[in-house]
Amino acid sequence: MFKNNLFKIIIALSIVLTVFIGCQKKEDKNKLYVGTNAEFEPFEYREGDKIVGFDIDLINEIAKLIGAEIEVVDMQFDGLLPALEAKKIDLIVAGMTATEERKQFVNFSDPYYNSKQSIVVLSNNTDITTFDNFAGKKVGVVLGYTGDILVSEMTNVEVQKFNATSETILALKSQKVDAVVLDYEPAKNYVAQNNELKLIETDSATEEYSIAMRKDDTELLTKVNDALKTINENGTYETLLNKYFAN
Ligand code: GLN
Repeated sequence: MFKNNLFKIIIALSIVLTVFIGCQKKEDKNKLYVGTNAEFEPFEYREGDKIVGFDIDLINEIAKLIGAEIEVVDMQFDGLLPALEAKKIDLIVAGMTATEERKQFVNFSDPYYNSKQSIVVLSNNTDITTFDNFAGKKVGVVLGYTGDILVSEMTNVEVQKFNATSETILALKSQKVDAVVLDYEPAKNYVAQNNELKLIETDSATEEYSIAMRKDDTELLTKVNDALKTINENGTYETLLNKYFAN
């Protein structure tokens, strides 16, 4: 008799557990993993152990609008596209420029920010004022960044590739390279925090930052673009601009 009841209890518990796990799975369906490279201030950077920045706020606003929960995953920049392909992440929000080359592999959302490449040199440097002065010089870039692509195409320049933005700046400070090429806003940030450094604006082509998704995730692409449109129209975008680019 007792054995029989125990058996019934076990069956009942199993059913409850199965239903519970089933529900959990459904919830997980609404969870999106967002890949970034948190050393691109003010777009994504660390404040203590928290990842913050314009892109992070933006994706949180998008997630709210599309009713999804997000988890931000920090990784090296050149690992982002492979991670998206391998479904380790569902979106990339990393100040990523929608280049023609990348467009072959991923879908990009509508652009959410326009940027450019810029040059950083030591403050006392007088011989580099444009890309034309790069001939015969050592120039630091971050592996896989659009700055890397740009400088690697120049002839007679010794390109040194680093794994992280901070490494290029360290190399510049220790004079292992003569200049560094980075996107304008992070470059401006490093210079603002460091009076040994000088920022040089360039006439490089405009780059459009967009959110990357897998080619077959077309439903997500539509949702993200709709959310971006709403964010633009309802003033949220303006608020974020003011928060991160006040000066
Ligand atoms: N915009 C540059 C690129 O897409 C750099 C991005 C970044 O460093 N996060 O390559």
